[in-house]
Amino acid sequence: MNTLFITGANRGIGLALVKLYLEQGWRVLASCRTPQSAEALWQLEQQFSHLQIFALDVTQYEQMNKLAKSLSETPIDLVINNAGIYGPKGYAFGDCDVEQWKHVMEVNVIAPLKLAEAFSAHLKLGEGKTFAVLSSKVGSMTNNTKGGGYIYRSSKAALNSVVKSLSNDLLPEGIKTVALHPGWVKTDMGGPNALISVEESAHGLKQVLDELHEAQSGGFYDYQGLAIPW
Ligand code: NDP
Repeated sequence: MNTLFITGANRGIGLALVKLYLEQGWRVLASCRTPQSAEALWQLEQQFSHLQIFALDVTQYEQMNKLAKSLSETPIDLVINNAGIYGPKGYAFGDCDVEQWKHVMEVNVIAPLKLAEAFSAHLKLGEGKTFAVLSSKVGSMTNNTKGGGYIYRSSKAALNSVVKSLSNDLLPEGIKTVALHPGWVKTDMGGPNALISVEESAHGLKQVLDELHEAQSGGFYDYQGLAIPW
């Protein structure tokens, strides 16, 4: 049985991925900040015996390392860093909130690297050997024609850079690393006007991950498998 470890599993795209992988017979190690209020995950746990739920705030590195240690004999095929935040909305040039920016960088950039550090040993034991992060097309500099969104855009651009470097370090160990754009998805972050459902996004992302090969490691793809320019 294949095993997925995922962050931010309690709602949005993360929750849809948990459900999809469970339905397709995977064992899922689902982490979220506050399991005690993750009702949707507990409902799934009633249905699927291969779901385990763990507490993890991705910026709490001691908690992350303890969790990784407690799972140290567990082969993991796929780790998905899904947790992410947008930060302040409506920010315009001239009004930069430094503390908020630092926090977004911590969640969206530093935490995914720490997660890769904590779980690369588990990936080495697994067969799938894939570390994926949910990035965003708005982190693409080529696609940035409108400007603005300094905080979120810069965090996802930096995350893409982390993915590129990770692929250099991890591919020699057989581990593929990839940055994925989930589409514009109807979630708390994506909002009600977004173009696709969490189910459509999750299905697309899973297909891209199912078909991922080594030559794609260090790359940036959308949920339909199309390469996105840096
Ligand atoms: P949501 O806002 O719906 O969910 C975000 C998830 O991240 C929640 O589970 C949240 O947990 C979790 N999270 C936030 N901070 C932390 C933290 N410090 N530790 C652990 N978990 C945390 O977002 P989406 O589902 O829409 O987005 C998922 C990913 O996809 C993100 O990385 C996002 O940037 C990316 N993305 C989304 C797009 C969209 O259109 N929706 C487009 C492009 C990229 P909690 O409930 O505790 O806050």
